[in-house]
Amino acid sequence: MADLEGAAPSSARRPVEAIEIKRRLGTLRFQTDSPEHAHITVKPEVCAQCPHSLCTFVCPAQCYERIEGKLVFRYEDCVECGACDIACDQGSVTWNFPRGTFGVRYAYG
Ligand code: SF4
Ligand code: SF4
Repeated sequence: MADLEGAAPSSARRPVEAIEIKRRLGTLRFQTDSPEHAHITVKPEVCAQCPHSLCTFVCPAQCYERIEGKLVFRYEDCVECGACDIACDQGSVTWNFPRGTFGVRYAYG
């Protein structure tokens, strides 16, 4: 297929570099609220019995991790996508938007 007019020839294009997620998150700005006002909370006793840990697969910011069998959740890097609230069918996640002025601030848009 021919290149688009004005576009660089394919041989001159560089491959897109895979950027590690924590580096990408570093391009965003966060105003982190205090832990007692965390906008997302989970119930550890429910997570301990969870058969799938879907939250660890769907969260784009890697806020959920299983470490030595225990679910560890960090709200600080949350980009407010809502995926964990949808994925968790065990009733563990309580999800709210952050309080005004807190949370993620996108550089563009
Ligand atoms: S999917 Fe829900 S219950 Fe399962 S580990 Fe994640 S937050 Fe906990
Ligand atoms: S809302 Fe999105 S970014 Fe935030 S913890 Fe849930 S899945 Fe992760």
